[in-house]
Amino acid sequence: MDFTLPSDLQEIQTTIRDFVLNVVEPRAQEIEHSNSIPPELIRQAADLGLFGLSIPEEYGGVGLSTLGRCAAYEALGQGHMGFGGMVSAHASIGTSGLVRLGTDAQKQRFLPGMAAGEIIAGFAITEPTSGSDAANIRTRAERHGDTWVLNGTKHYISNAPIAGLLTVIAVTDPSRGSKGMSAFLVPMDTPGVTVGKIDEKMGQKGSLSAEVIFQDAALPQDSLLGPQDLGYREALGILTNGRVGIAARSTGAMQRLLDLCVAHARAREQFGKPIAEFQAVQFMLAEMEIDIQTSRLLWQKVAWMVDAGQDVRRMASVAKYHATEALSRVADKAVQVAGGMGYMKEYPIERFYRDQRLLRIYEGTSEIQKVIIAADLLR
Ligand SMILES: Cc1cc2nc3c(=O)[nH]c(=O)nc-3n(C[C@H](O)[C@H](O)[C@H](O)COP(=O)(O)OP(=O)(O)OC[C@H]3O[C@@H](n4cnc5c(N)ncnc54)[C@H](O)[C@@H]3O)c2cc1C
Repeated sequence: MDFTLPSDLQEIQTTIRDFVLNVVEPRAQEIEHSNSIPPELIRQAADLGLFGLSIPEEYGGVGLSTLGRCAAYEALGQGHMGFGGMVSAHASIGTSGLVRLGTDAQKQRFLPGMAAGEIIAGFAITEPTSGSDAANIRTRAERHGDTWVLNGTKHYISNAPIAGLLTVIAVTDPSRGSKGMSAFLVPMDTPGVTVGKIDEKMGQKGSLSAEVIFQDAALPQDSLLGPQDLGYREALGILTNGRVGIAARSTGAMQRLLDLCVAHARAREQFGKPIAEFQAVQFMLAEMEIDIQTSRLLWQKVAWMVDAGQDVRRMASVAKYHATEALSRVADKAVQVAGGMGYMKEYPIERFYRDQRLLRIYEGTSEIQKVIIAADLLR
């Protein structure tokens, strides 16, 4: 077995890391205060191919394998997590349904614009009355002749305020329970689609989420993505792919926090010597490294499994659970190693501490990951 990432993926990682650390990071305070990503950063990210990571080359994307995409996400994770969240909601869950299930005509219509960052994408399953219990969504798509009519409300939808296209999961046949669900490609300028107030979040500034309301939104027949009544399990397959990406982003965030802590521990002196010489501090650094190495091995294995065509339902949850819980431990230790500085907003650790908390909640909470793992074990 060879655990070395191929050199082209290492180069992609270096390019993305340079971008997020040297171009995005200097604008972090601006993003925090304005709660928006400067348009020129979106353009530069598009030029680097960040919006087309998983889009095939024939549709203008970079066409990376899952391993390649996740390697890119690990590098992205080292930077501002709101910026990374915006990019990955688009490149991951916003894109993967269309790439996997779309017809050539659907792909031709949307993917080139998505790869160029001109159409920002998102994915909408969550509703006010069904979060973890996503099989119980109520948003309804009814067929009237050649038209699908969409009614319902989604909430907490990442990228909704800036999106041009959402993949929306709706009930098409209530008599079939969770099997009677379908996915739809919904352009945001469709009459009857409105975006509610932008959510005021704890962190991940610049990554905007909001409610999306569908009121008799009429969609042409070719808005159906994949087969009619593709079912809950297949719809959730879009999230399964997202989960390994979250594990990779978490690993990148942990690496950044450790790098900051090692530099701080070497430079900061107390009791006449660098705090790095105290074993209590060394142990925190060592524990952070253990969490990083185990998380990296997991995302790499799961990404490899996806590319090998294996079923990753259980392992994607293992990787997401482990890496996001590990990130919370690492972020907490990072604040501790940095002491008072770790609590100050001018230092990135405080931001990571807030931003990372979301990763244990979205795309399936930690508890839901354990439910999935146990159900698969006991199947
Ligand atoms: C900032 C943000 C962005 C988001 N982006 C998107 C998006 O782009 N698209 C989208 O569709 N959704 C998105 N979500 C929604 C997200 O996926 C849900 O918030 C998440 O699935 C949890 O649902 P909930 O918030 O309703 O919590 P609930 O389901 O109400 O859960 C509350 C608590 O109960 C626990 N719980 C629930 N059921 C069980 C169970 N069976 N066993 C054990 N514990 C259980 C949960 O683990 C949690 O601790 C986003 C959420 C946030 C906060």
